[in-house]
Amino acid sequence: MRVTVYAGSSPGNRPVFAQEAARFAAELAQAGAEIVYGGGSVGLMGTIADAALAHGGKVIGIIPESLAQAEVAHPSLTELHVVETMHERKELMARLGDCFVAVPGGVGTLEELFEVWAALILGHHSKPVMLLNTDNYWSRLLSLVVRTGHYGFMSEEEVTSLLPVTDAADLLATMASWSPPPPRWPARPVTNALTG
Ligand code: AMP
Repeated sequence: MRVTVYAGSSPGNRPVFAQEAARFAAELAQAGAEIVYGGGSVGLMGTIADAALAHGGKVIGIIPESLAQAEVAHPSLTELHVVETMHERKELMARLGDCFVAVPGGVGTLEELFEVWAALILGHHSKPVMLLNTDNYWSRLLSLVVRTGHYGFMSEEEVTSLLPVTDAADLLATMASWSPPPPRWPARPVTNALTG
């Protein structure tokens, strides 16, 4: 099982973010899950990779050439794919993962999260999309998502398809009991790599 992790390229300004990211990655590794992530060694991205590797996990990084220096491509991953564009990075991260989880991060993390979540809603894949809700980091985002349902922009099933989890055990349990929301539009062939 592979878990694609979207994570901040900064550590945040509270120790709890790195502590919980490290615990999460270590527990995933101990449970035998492989991690797919953005390939950098900075911020929570690096924390995730280091903790999983230190606990015997396999970690696959995918980094665009243009960011290999800025985000300091991690030197000791199980696999590192250097791709040409951000788009290729997101596509490969989405294709390789059996589920997606965002740990705290900024706009890059949000952008990656929303792309795979929107693809789920459109029925382009049927993999769970989760949030590691460290210190309630994502709770206001979840409130906003509830509001989209309240005002009639998303169905109840769509609203509840973005899943907060507390730790790795919760992620694994959530995956085991999960079923995708009904696709918003009738199925038709798509050429997008996010078909899974
Ligand atoms: P941030 O959450 O802003 O610290 O960014 C987390 C990661 O998302 C970093 O590795 C960024 O390079 C990456 N990122 C930002 N925008 C994109 C994008 N459009 N496609 C793929 N990765 C991105």
